Amino acid sequence: MNELPSLSFQPAQQIKAYQEKKLVNLVQYLKVNSPFYRRLFHENNIDPDAIRGIEDLARIPPTEKEHLQLYNKDFVCVPQHQIVEYMATSGTVGSPVTIALTENDLQRLAYNEYSSFACADGSASDIYQLMLTLDRQFMAGIAYYLGIRKLGAGQVRVGPGVPSLQWEVIERLKPNAIVAVPSFIVKLIQYAKENGIDLSRSSVKKAICIGENLRKEDLSLNVLGSRITEDWNIQLYSTYASTEMQTAFTECSAGKGGHQNPELVILELIDDNGRPVAAGEIGEVAITTLGVEGMPLLRYKTGDLCRAFHEPCSCGRHTTRLSPVIGRKKQMIKFKGTTLFAPALFEIIHKMDAIKEYVAEVYSNEIGTDEVLLYILPSNTSEETDGKIKTYLQARLRVMPHIRYLTRQEMQQLQFPEGARKPVKFIDKRGAANGGG
Ligand SMILES: [Zn+2]
Repeated sequence: MNELPSLSFQPAQQIKAYQEKKLVNLVQYLKVNSPFYRRLFHENNIDPDAIRGIEDLARIPPTEKEHLQLYNKDFVCVPQHQIVEYMATSGTVGSPVTIALTENDLQRLAYNEYSSFACADGSASDIYQLMLTLDRQFMAGIAYYLGIRKLGAGQVRVGPGVPSLQWEVIERLKPNAIVAVPSFIVKLIQYAKENGIDLSRSSVKKAICIGENLRKEDLSLNVLGSRITEDWNIQLYSTYASTEMQTAFTECSAGKGGHQNPELVILELIDDNGRPVAAGEIGEVAITTLGVEGMPLLRYKTGDLCRAFHEPCSCGRHTTRLSPVIGRKKQMIKFKGTTLFAPALFEIIHKMDAIKEYVAEVYSNEIGTDEVLLYILPSNTSEETDGKIKTYLQARLRVMPHIRYLTRQEMQQLQFPEGARKPVKFIDKRGAANGGG
């Protein structure tokens, strides 16, 4: 898998033919090696030999996160001595899932990020500053590291947080690119402003953004995205990835959705019955991994709701592009008579300067509808600020959430419970005993 990622530039028919050949191999591999999928084929009367094309996938029940949690070991297709690394999902909902990788899987991961960085205009002359962890079983960090090495670019592993250190390194080593969470880039900008660092003269020209949406449904920049570019003239590239799929969708400079890597995953958008949604409709992202040895997945439902774009892109790629995550299946809030997705709520909160940090907690009330409790770190504790926040939320949301102000320390504890690699922004207490807030 060392050649340049050229399949993306082939006609869509050719991409499909390639994927179907790989799919047939995968199903045969699972039939022989996967205890979980052997059982699934058997229990659902599925003849693996009859799965020949992407349309046949609809006959196979999707795999869910709960399956991975309950039968984690049954997904492993190789003997233990072939496993070279144990990674894990972040586990914001439920218990973390172990993902076991073979040497070939690590190489696949390197290839994945290599072609992602290439898609985001990366080359050997770039220097990337990594503002994220490479520890704690975190896959993305090591994937970036491996991909950048494969690209032949330079990199600096600074780790997450600490804006002062990030700027010190930027000024010393002059990286032209950063890999970071968008809300952290906002903090970098804030630090620069407060400390007399001239953003327009910094060496950084682009950012690979991870973990958070940069764009709205119409692909224009959201509050977070425009807050960054208003202050700092850098090119932003959004990415979408998850540990389970061991693959990333990455934007090219056109910024028209994340490009699928056709050698590594089959993408479906499906409805609640596991059927593909009509073109252009919102559906749940379901992934079939290609080329994975350790723990391949067949129709894995991610819980993320997106749209897909199939028209060729101005960059010349013919691969499907994925919209920003419009909502998470499990983060749908049923406010009296209306449905609100968590990202839409966050978007409203991000517009309010008086809210420095926040966590949204959702719980069920006595009549079974959802209540939202917003934990807020305000810019200051004055009555005026309190009034401003409440008036603003009241105007933007049809139903007023409950509000509890926290100190910086309390917020830190809530956002980073022990073992968390990224801040918690959403706590779901529905299904727990009445109230719970
Ligand atoms: Zn493109």
